[in-house]
Amino acid sequence: MLGTDCKSPRCISLEGEVGTGVSCSIYEQRSSPCREFEASWVDGQHNSDCDAARAAFGLAPLEPVDIEPWYEESA
Ligand code: SF4
Repeated sequence: MLGTDCKSPRCISLEGEVGTGVSCSIYEQRSSPCREFEASWVDGQHNSDCDAARAAFGLAPLEPVDIEPWYEESA
């Protein structure tokens, strides 16, 4: 999560372009806050923190239909 506590936060482990396609370069070793954070609707619940994070990058909130079926199956 290094890089997430500055004015323009961006974790140094985040690869890709926000809004187009990103991935975590340390996914298997990510910290507990990262492991505990669920995007909205992944677990069937809305997450207002997810909305806020997306809004910071000009992205609309996720809708239930945005969740990929494979993600629900792997949960
Ligand atoms: S999930 Fe990965 S890219 Fe996202 S904040 Fe955590 S360490 Fe950074």
